Amino acid sequence: KKYVYRFGGGQAEGNKDMRELLGGKGANLAEMSAIGLPVPPGFTITTEACAYYHEHNGKWPEGLEEEVRAGVRHIEQLMEAGFGDPNNPLLVSVRSGAALSMPGMMDTVLNLGINDRVVEGLARRTGNERFAYDAYRRFIDMFGDVVMGVHHEHFEAVLAALKKEKGVSEDTELDAEALKELVRRYKEVYRQHTGSLFPEDPYEQLYRAINAVFESWNSERAIKYRQIHKIRGLLGTAVNVQAMVFGNMGERSGTGVCFTRNPATGENELYGEFLINAQGEDVVAGIRTPKSISEMKQVMPELYEQLVRLARQLEEHYKNMQDIEFTVQEGRLFILQTRNGKRTGVAAVKIAVDMVDEGLVDPKTAVRDLVEPAHLDQLLHPRFKSETAYKDRVIGRGLPASPGAAVGQVVFTAEDAEAWRAQGKRVILVRIETSPEDVGGMHAAEGILTSRGGMTSHAAVVARGWGKPCVAGCGDIVIDYSTKTFRAGNVVVKEGDWISINGSTGEVILGQEALVEPSLSGDFARFMEWVDQFRTLGVRTNADTPQDARKAVEFGAEGIGLCRTEHMFFEGDRILAMREMILATTLEERRAALAKLLPYQKEDFRGIFREMAGKPVTIRLLDPPLHEFLPHDEKEQQELAQQLGIPVETVRTKVEALKEFNPMLGHRGCRLGITYPEITEMQTRAILEAALELKQEGVDVRPEIMVPLVGTREELEHQRRVIEETAQKVFAEKGDRIDFLVGTMIEVPRAALLADQIAEVAEFFSFGTNDLTQLTFGYSRDDAGKFLPYYVEQKILKDDPFQTLDQEGVGQLVQIGTERGRKTRPSLKVGICGEHGGDPASVAFCYKVGLDYVSCSPFRVPIARLAAAQAHL
Ligand code: ADP
Ligand code: MG
Ligand code: MG
Repeated sequence: KKYVYRFGGGQAEGNKDMRELLGGKGANLAEMSAIGLPVPPGFTITTEACAYYHEHNGKWPEGLEEEVRAGVRHIEQLMEAGFGDPNNPLLVSVRSGAALSMPGMMDTVLNLGINDRVVEGLARRTGNERFAYDAYRRFIDMFGDVVMGVHHEHFEAVLAALKKEKGVSEDTELDAEALKELVRRYKEVYRQHTGSLFPEDPYEQLYRAINAVFESWNSERAIKYRQIHKIRGLLGTAVNVQAMVFGNMGERSGTGVCFTRNPATGENELYGEFLINAQGEDVVAGIRTPKSISEMKQVMPELYEQLVRLARQLEEHYKNMQDIEFTVQEGRLFILQTRNGKRTGVAAVKIAVDMVDEGLVDPKTAVRDLVEPAHLDQLLHPRFKSETAYKDRVIGRGLPASPGAAVGQVVFTAEDAEAWRAQGKRVILVRIETSPEDVGGMHAAEGILTSRGGMTSHAAVVARGWGKPCVAGCGDIVIDYSTKTFRAGNVVVKEGDWISINGSTGEVILGQEALVEPSLSGDFARFMEWVDQFRTLGVRTNADTPQDARKAVEFGAEGIGLCRTEHMFFEGDRILAMREMILATTLEERRAALAKLLPYQKEDFRGIFREMAGKPVTIRLLDPPLHEFLPHDEKEQQELAQQLGIPVETVRTKVEALKEFNPMLGHRGCRLGITYPEITEMQTRAILEAALELKQEGVDVRPEIMVPLVGTREELEHQRRVIEETAQKVFAEKGDRIDFLVGTMIEVPRAALLADQIAEVAEFFSFGTNDLTQLTFGYSRDDAGKFLPYYVEQKILKDDPFQTLDQEGVGQLVQIGTERGRKTRPSLKVGICGEHGGDPASVAFCYKVGLDYVSCSPFRVPIARLAAAQAHL
């Protein structure tokens, strides 16, 4: 088995597609070398060797040592120098690098191969004694710190003492003699802390450094990093051994890092930093302040031009914006690393569009590789003008529950939010937690801040649905409703005070930050046009109001996959009619109350149908337990009793009677329509009358009526009968008819398993994966916050299944349901609605199992479109 891959001299044994085996750094060093870029020669030890090392208690696999020695000879030949040869010394760096970029692993060791005799040779060859001893003392420090765990500060202390003795303040003021003395003292530090002499043998230095890189793969911080970033299934880290080039050889040398384009704006210009007369670690260590790369243009114009050409060449080769590390040794430029550069959403889209215009990539490549779904999320919401300017005004930090930035005056109740909004004020609604009764105020607010609750709390889910910024579970703030204030540390914020929240980072900021609005035209629009060319999976939206529907169409929704009817019942006078319906004791009373609701419902549907002209609209019949609509406190119950002219006792008894032990498993979904068919009748009538009226106006309406929470064919048959009888009545009354579909949500596991039977009655399925997840795992969504975070931390679950679809378990039900349903009815339309419809990984899964569409909240629509295209490419 081959464990070592060489590169250098215009050739390489590896290439850029071998990241798994050579790590990202190694694969790209090989690639750059092979296409003739100036890369110092070297070799890469594979991640398989690292895996072997860990599986065999720190032993090297058979043949590795031989291969490493051959690798060193390869470098020696190309550099025309000898490793450990005092007359013509070769020094190397030892660098870690896994398949994915992963800070937390071993730091690089530079200048390896130096010892007491080599340092003299180095001084002679370069004619620069000071440089040679500077390299030596840096090596002892780095080797001691990185490889042997002798903390850097022990060396620093000795250095500081020496500078004091010599009466100088800068390292650079120490002359060769002083540095010689420093080397002696550093070795003594090394001996004291390790109990052994500093290794003079270059190969011993090398082997130890290689082992230290292997070890670092399983260091605590590396393990922690992989955990946090959900990096799994990698073999280990590769080790790169590479000839040193020196940026610290004087004024014609230097080192730097740069992006081939501006990673914040996407502007096509080199962007980065540069330090003259310095070695790699100086740039990051912050010892000296680096210069902007544009200044390099002044001091080293030819080299700058060369760097620009190399940047261009790298982009042409990698078809992506690059993040590169380089060093200049006495006027010669070397590239030491390249990788795809991280960038903001704005930059990602601009770079993608520019690269297509420049002819660097075709639209297909741009869609597949240059923009991530998460990038679009940043683009669709208002942002702060500056993401850094406010850092000293951050007074708290919560969960980034719904992205975007919002600015407003603080209010503490939903009613106040609505009232202030009505006066034209901008408000941030601050609550300990929110509940369905707060939705009006939540809608009126610019943003929502809660002190309790997680990523799937009511506030978080509702806010994401609307694309409204939300910071949830901000434990840093203590809310006092009675005084209408909240406290954050020693800051007290009163009602009416201005705050800003960043829903993308979870920051809560004192005062009014400047915002910039998102732009859906220009680059974004062009990019999304390309996206749709490569997409076969449909994308619909979940929308309950005409406003949401319009927004979603703007974002490219091709229909409504889920229109919940219950939200409509909370607004204004409707809640009264709704409560009257629930409190009714006879069928007649109930019908009378429903008749009051009918015009409201019809009006809602007219508005939505109009916005969605020519596109399918799936409307779900009433779903939540009725209890949710009733007032729960004494005062409100009294008010309601008064309004309806009934004794408060009746209200209280009814509220009591409707209480359930497990409301989510209780009297809800189609169980409501079955026990009270008149509800289904009213809703069907509202839908079809609205549709017929718009048809009269020449609007193309395509209603789809969806029955929730079905578990048996008989349930759906029952509801279908009610719907069809009502339809016949409405059509007869109006003397007109319209096509519509009847289908069901698949959210009870039994329905997925018996999908073949259910499809006999259903013309479409929509997987309600929120409830399906809840019922498959048996986790109550509203209570899972107590244990899910712990489950994820303990790796009992990989992810929160309410955020990302559990493909293994719940996904199986989706697959089975789809297959069995289509067996009975090949034309069955199948979609998914619920939070997962906008999660890129879940979208890819839906594509794989052959769904017709996904449906998600309006603000996730562009994200789902891109994820769907990328799944197809
Ligand atoms: P990281 O993964 O932390 O970026 P690297 O292995 O890229 O670590 O090394 C950090 C820096 O060390 C490089 O950017 C470069 O400046 C310097 N360096 C590494 N290898 C060499 C080398 N062979 N010659 C000169 N400088 C090097
Ligand atoms: Mg690097
Ligand atoms: Mg449901």
